[in-house]
Amino acid sequence: MRILVVEDEKSIASFLARGLKEEKFAVDVAYDGEEGMYLAEINAYDVMIFDIMLPKKDGIAMCQELRARKINTPILMLTARNAVEDKIDGLNSGADDYLTKPFSFGELLARLRVLLKRTTGNKTSVLKVDDLQLNQLTYEVQRDGRPIKLNTKEFMLLQYLMLNAGHVISRTMISEHVWNEEFDSMTNIIDVYIAYLRRKIDKGFRKKLIRTVRGAGYMLGTPQ
Ligand code: CA
Repeated sequence: MRILVVEDEKSIASFLARGLKEEKFAVDVAYDGEEGMYLAEINAYDVMIFDIMLPKKDGIAMCQELRARKINTPILMLTARNAVEDKIDGLNSGADDYLTKPFSFGELLARLRVLLKRTTGNKTSVLKVDDLQLNQLTYEVQRDGRPIKLNTKEFMLLQYLMLNAGHVISRTMISEHVWNEEFDSMTNIIDVYIAYLRRKIDKGFRKKLIRTVRGAGYMLGTPQ
C-alpha cells in the first residue's frame, strides 16, 4: 500500500511516516500543498492524508482539485482541534474522513483501514492467487493452508505482486511502491527480495507462482 502524507509540521510528518512504514506502507511525504499536488498527480496512491492548514495550497483546495480531476483516492484530512467548520469544508471538498489533532497513531491507523477497506470495495481484505493467500489486515500469508512467515519488505512485495496478479510489474514500479525509491541501484535489491520470496512461496511446490518476464519485470500467477 502506498500512502501520501502532506503535513507542514515536521514533527507530525515524521511521526506519521515512521509509524506508517512500520505498518508496511510505502510512504511519501510533502511539506506544502503544491509539492503534495505534484506527488498526488504523478503517483498512484492507495490513500492520502492531508493537513488542512498548509503553505502554498491548503488541504481543502487540494482535495477539490484532485476530485475535479477525477482522482478518487481516499483522503483523510487532519484538522485543528474543534475546528468544526474545517471538518464540514473538508468533507464537502471530497475528503472521505477527518481526524482532529491531536490524535493517537492507533486512531489514525483504524481510520485508514476503514478507508482502504471501503476502496478495495466488496473485494475482501484477503488476496488470493491460486493456493496462495495474503490477508492485508492481519498480514497472514499462507500457501496450500500452510502459514508462511515474511518480513516487512517481503510482505509488501508479495502484496504488490498479488494486487497486480496476472500483470507484468516492472522493477521501477516495484521500487516506487515497495521501497519509495527510484534508483537504478534498486534493481539488485529487488532481485534479491524476489529470490527470498521464491524460496518462501514457491520452493517445494510444483507450480511456481512467481515468474520472471525477461526484459520487463515480474509477474505473479497466470497472465491475464
Ligand atoms: Ca499545518
